Amino acid sequence: MSLDRKEKTDVFERALAAIPGGVNSPVRSWAAVGGHPRFVASAQGSRIVDTEGREYIDYVGSWGPMVLGHRHPSVVEALERALAGGTSFGAATEAEVDLAEMIIGLVPSIERVRLVNSGTEATMSALRVARAATGRDQIVKFAGCYHGHADAFLVKAGSGATTLGVPDSPGVPEAVGGLTRVADFNDLDSVEAVLGEDTAAVIVEPVAANMGVVPPQEGFLEGLIEAAHGCGALVIFDEVISGFRLSLAGYQGPAGLEPDLTCLGKIIGGGLPVGAYGGRAELMDLVAPSGPVYQAGTLSGNPLAVAAGLATLETLAKEDPYESLSRKGTALAAALQEGLGRRPGCVQGLGSLATLFFGPDRVDNYDDASKTDVKKYARFFSALLDQGIWVPPSQFEAWFVSAAHSDEDIARTAEAVGRALAAVD
Ligand SMILES: *Cc1c(COP(=O)(O)O)cnc(C)c1O
Repeated sequence: MSLDRKEKTDVFERALAAIPGGVNSPVRSWAAVGGHPRFVASAQGSRIVDTEGREYIDYVGSWGPMVLGHRHPSVVEALERALAGGTSFGAATEAEVDLAEMIIGLVPSIERVRLVNSGTEATMSALRVARAATGRDQIVKFAGCYHGHADAFLVKAGSGATTLGVPDSPGVPEAVGGLTRVADFNDLDSVEAVLGEDTAAVIVEPVAANMGVVPPQEGFLEGLIEAAHGCGALVIFDEVISGFRLSLAGYQGPAGLEPDLTCLGKIIGGGLPVGAYGGRAELMDLVAPSGPVYQAGTLSGNPLAVAAGLATLETLAKEDPYESLSRKGTALAAALQEGLGRRPGCVQGLGSLATLFFGPDRVDNYDDASKTDVKKYARFFSALLDQGIWVPPSQFEAWFVSAAHSDEDIARTAEAVGRALAAVD
């Protein structure tokens, strides 16, 4: 184990004394891979630099937002321009309208959209709209899908309790967790089993990317939409990762799918805090002040965040990097597969997302993902870090390729992956 325990101990110790677990979001702690986190000083393009001056090729990309790479000139310029005008007004701005129109223009199922500050806010607000629109309280989610940390979503079903939600996190009242029913991804029968006349909404990541990358099987999402609508429930696509990453219209556009509500985040803030939820006008018009469903935010539509998001979407629309992103993602997945060789495991991915799972030869749902060898992943992580490759400190997260990754970055990563995999056995 080469994660040097002495390194940065002073800062990390200060962090531990000041912040729960030393971090402001759990996966940053590297707890899952058994090391002390390295502190980041800066990033540029495909590279991230730690406070010791070591440079890495970055495959975390802030967990998705940095699809153009770090400090893309268009984003930096837009931020500088916005900064000159002020950082927050708590009043309407034209740029918010530009960003909303851009989202509506690109994602066909969205007729109106509300900007918020995070993916968490987007999903919890979309759920509130779905409950208000249907007059129902129950929701269905999928084990292993992540929708932020609102109470209703911190439920993945304890063993044997797939039909009645069991809160996974202390502090989630049973009365709230009990309204969440859990189905298995890629398993329509499990959806039918929990859907009912009391279901307000089914929420799903169309491409599950928070248990490692698990693409939907053919017909799964179509069947889910049909089943949900069949009993009067709405469908919420959580495209916080897939939105503007898999295409300009998320996963839903090319797939020809129309959810009732869509949640966005990550990329639409271009590295600043933004989320959004949107859908058909008649649903979104339930939101205050058009309608009675209350949802608000002091910093929502923040000028800096909107400028970064708008510059990111405009650049994506202009440069259309999706074919190139997909080609690099596929090359990375191929390198992982080749390095894996005949060891047990599999590589799954879509577009610029990829995951190497140690153990199972296929991962279709959370059960499969739970069978992975996380200790092996921890050794793999460490061996890659030693070679200047920064990947997610968890088996259950996607690797993110950006437009800033060069073919040479991918080739260098492929070599490192080969050496790292040879070392983890
Ligand atoms: C990251 C994520 C969220 C939560 O977004 P935050 O901005 O972290 O609150 C919600 N849904 C999905 C699919 C995500 O990946």
